[in-house]
Amino acid sequence: MNLVQSISSLTVAKFGGTSVADFQAMLRCANIIKNDTNNRLVVVSASAGVTNYLVRLSQENVAVDEQKDIVENIRTIQVNITQHLAKDVASELNQEINSLLDELTQQALTQSLQFSRKTTDAILAFGEQLSSRVFTQVLQSINVAAEYFNVQQVMKTNSLYGKAVVDIKLLATQSAQLLVPKLHDKVIVTQGFIGQDSQGHTTTLGRGGSDYSAALLAEAINADNLSIWTDVEGIFTTDPRITDQARAIKEISFGEAAEMATFGAKILHPATLIPAMRCNIPVFVGSSKEPEKGGTQIKQKVDSNPTYRSIALRREQTLVTVKSPAMLHASGFLAKVFTVLAKHDLSVDLITTSEISVALTFDNPSGSTQSLITNAVVTELEQLCEVSVEHGLSLVAVIGNGLTSAKGIGQSIFQTINDINIRLICHGASANNICFLVAEADANSVVEKLHNSLFS
Ligand code: ADP
Ligand code: ASP
Ligand code: MG
Repeated sequence: MNLVQSISSLTVAKFGGTSVADFQAMLRCANIIKNDTNNRLVVVSASAGVTNYLVRLSQENVAVDEQKDIVENIRTIQVNITQHLAKDVASELNQEINSLLDELTQQALTQSLQFSRKTTDAILAFGEQLSSRVFTQVLQSINVAAEYFNVQQVMKTNSLYGKAVVDIKLLATQSAQLLVPKLHDKVIVTQGFIGQDSQGHTTTLGRGGSDYSAALLAEAINADNLSIWTDVEGIFTTDPRITDQARAIKEISFGEAAEMATFGAKILHPATLIPAMRCNIPVFVGSSKEPEKGGTQIKQKVDSNPTYRSIALRREQTLVTVKSPAMLHASGFLAKVFTVLAKHDLSVDLITTSEISVALTFDNPSGSTQSLITNAVVTELEQLCEVSVEHGLSLVAVIGNGLTSAKGIGQSIFQTINDINIRLICHGASANNICFLVAEADANSVVEKLHNSLFS
């Protein structure tokens, strides 16, 4: 590859966990980069499975034997890739991997002596730190001039471990200084998901956060395009794992795709489209396994705005119902409830009200091991009202356009699933979605039936 290529359309390419899971997968991604010289900044996730291992390693009370097993499993995943590289390259890379894993072992030990969220983030970050080093070498092995870049030099965040907030201004200035000059003659490979706070401690942006990292970096370097390479050929009308009737969508607006991501379509981290929309950067989503099949273009304006665009599903929702006769004809009750929730940093999702009660739903972020609605929250709410908490629910969101003005929407959606108990319905606040809760056990069949009737 010619080292000094003019970049006609600067592209940030993000590869998810399955795309960098093993050597063959990494090689396919490397060829995607090689075949389009506009791809200059590469953002990688941890190899598939590694972050889940790290989540386990970061938990309290993990026995030393299990810690060792986890570290060995991670080593095996990475070394299975490096063994395909030239001997000298592999041996140098294995040394780097070993020293990172020694550091990881130390962090796991620290965590078992004294658990902290700071150490949790330090542990979770190893996946991307490993895969980005390995992928740089895979690119070099097919003669792409690639260089590893530590994203923590530019991705500065606050210290909210597990869901750190990025300093977007600092990201832009640091990237202009440290990253952009490198992009002219090299492909730069960096980590998704991780950042660094002002004291130099590692932070993470939340599970699935590499998509968001890539979008933030695209914004920071003024990229013309963002490509999200994953394991499916674009955004589908619903999760293709739920029904084989799901179809890839060729074009979708930022707004529609953002609704899908918000309501649980795992294909994109919920915040991914915020930077892209801010700077009007078109986003492509495609399969790194079959790049020739094309994918989905997400952009500001699209030719068609169908009433029904997709169905999203978010599992493990919590429903809290607060009830108080004092609410009748009174003012200020809801403000008090929301003050308690805000104090505990809880963000309300859906809300419905009646005369004396209010039902609120909360999303349990994936990867969290305990309920968001802790005993402390319930106790404080009980000072104000009766409280009931229900688990085991899924949120189904039908996403589309003009849903508050089209006729017959309620009938076409709910008639199809009239044998199912609907626990709560939210409609009216947005023309782009109708949401409802069903029992976890009914969720897949509800999505399948709805998909058949709305998209067949
Ligand atoms: P990556 O590791 O590449 O980030 P993810 O597993 O996070 O990949 O996201 C891809 C997965 O998202 C797909 O395998 C698919 O099962 C799931 N998914 C959920 N909803 C959708 C949808 N509407 N369209 C496509 N994929 C979806
Ligand atoms: N590796 C992280 C995770 O599994 C981030 C990502 O893949 O986007 O959540
Ligand atoms: Mg993902």
